[in-house]
Amino acid sequence: MEYISTRGSAQLPVNGPLDFEGATLAGLASDGGLYVPREWPRFSLDEIAAMRGLPYAELAARVMKPFVGDSLAPERLRELCEQAYGRFAHAAVTPLAQLDERNWLLELFHGPTLAFKDVALQLLGLLFEEFLSRRDERLTIVGATSGDTGSAAIDAVAGRERIDIFMLHPNGRVSDVQRRQMTTVKAPNVHNIAIEGSFDDAQAMVKRVFGDTELTGRFRISAVNSINWARLMAQVVYYFAAALQLGGPARKVAFSVPTGNFGDVFAGHVAARMGLPIERLIVATNVNDILHRALSAGDYSTGTVTPTAAPSMDIQVSSNFERLLFDVGGRDGLALAEQMRGFEASKAMRLTNAQREGAATLFSSTSADADQMSQAMRWAYESCGEVIDPHTAIGLHAAREADLPGDVPVVTLATAHPAKFRDAVERATGLRPPLPARMGDLFERDESYVELPGEYEAVTAYVAEHATPSR
Ligand SMILES: *Cc1c(COP(=O)(O)O)cnc(C)c1O
Repeated sequence: MEYISTRGSAQLPVNGPLDFEGATLAGLASDGGLYVPREWPRFSLDEIAAMRGLPYAELAARVMKPFVGDSLAPERLRELCEQAYGRFAHAAVTPLAQLDERNWLLELFHGPTLAFKDVALQLLGLLFEEFLSRRDERLTIVGATSGDTGSAAIDAVAGRERIDIFMLHPNGRVSDVQRRQMTTVKAPNVHNIAIEGSFDDAQAMVKRVFGDTELTGRFRISAVNSINWARLMAQVVYYFAAALQLGGPARKVAFSVPTGNFGDVFAGHVAARMGLPIERLIVATNVNDILHRALSAGDYSTGTVTPTAAPSMDIQVSSNFERLLFDVGGRDGLALAEQMRGFEASKAMRLTNAQREGAATLFSSTSADADQMSQAMRWAYESCGEVIDPHTAIGLHAAREADLPGDVPVVTLATAHPAKFRDAVERATGLRPPLPARMGDLFERDESYVELPGEYEAVTAYVAEHATPSR
């Protein structure tokens, strides 16, 4: 499989077009675009039906094989999937729970850090290690986190020989559970940095690192945010898993997805492109509703971020939305590059008619405020006995509002374990969800992190001193 940039002009490396290995290690394309496969592989309905009943790791290897192409032997891909998903606390990896005659929850939080990001990052850590050892290279991951991504990324690469990870979090501004999930990981390649300032300050420093030729000349610096194609690819699998459980491919299924950076729901679009019958993808947002405005009115313009009880959805710009605009808008990279330049200059753009109509064939959207979120949490608890987190609640609200044929099951993606956001859950339901047994001693473990002032030079000096050069 070959990968191309959404901005159409990424220079092909001298040794030929970019394959899966190249796209995985590169992350962002050099023209600022995002990598997508040159064409979508397609399964027939018979091929999809034949996947029913497979163990998750085997299903994952089957669904991902066309994207991985020659970059990994099929047996090796399957071994890596078994290793990644063997770390989940549930044998089904992403089990379904029934709420009522039509609504289901797809529990994506049984990984090591209790958020759905583990599904993709556990595999990505293994893919990085595999490709780096093949090339005898090293990688330095630099990231900023307001919570979930940092812990999932650290867990995924802790102890890996060829990777150093530096994770910046705003000092005093992440929850105790989130901080401890990062700072209690004991591995020589894990470097937690508590930085004075806000998440945006930390994020701005990370962006500067990527343009810093002094650092990028010595280290192969990489990001782990959801722009990495391999992360999206790993998320396609659970759409297949859920649909097969609920009667697919003979029966269409709808999905409601708590959305921030548009990575998770874009994976649903990919599943549909691959031939999985999907009735609808519902993009669920909180009051930070740029995606709802874009999909319902064609208006993609940033505002200021309002902090909510679902912080992983508090976004201004949704990076992976570019992939959808590319795919439904005629796959014209140069035109999209122009459109994105306009957006970057004015922080606003209109979707083209082709983009709007293309998106409307599969997507709809809903935005939920704080009351609607709390009501959804209460309904799930009081009527169905299920405790859900604030992100999942926004998805469930959208699922219950959706106007769909009566025989279509609606699967809400449960993106975080309720214990991760127990204050908000307690406010809505009166119940304080306990941490799962495997995390029970989180508050007894020793923490390790450095505190640095909010100065760029302090951060780069720390990275340069503790990272290992790329070769
Ligand atoms: C990251 C995250 C989201 C948003 O997912 P995207 O792929 O960025 O749309 C939703 N819920 C939780 C709990 C998350 O951690």
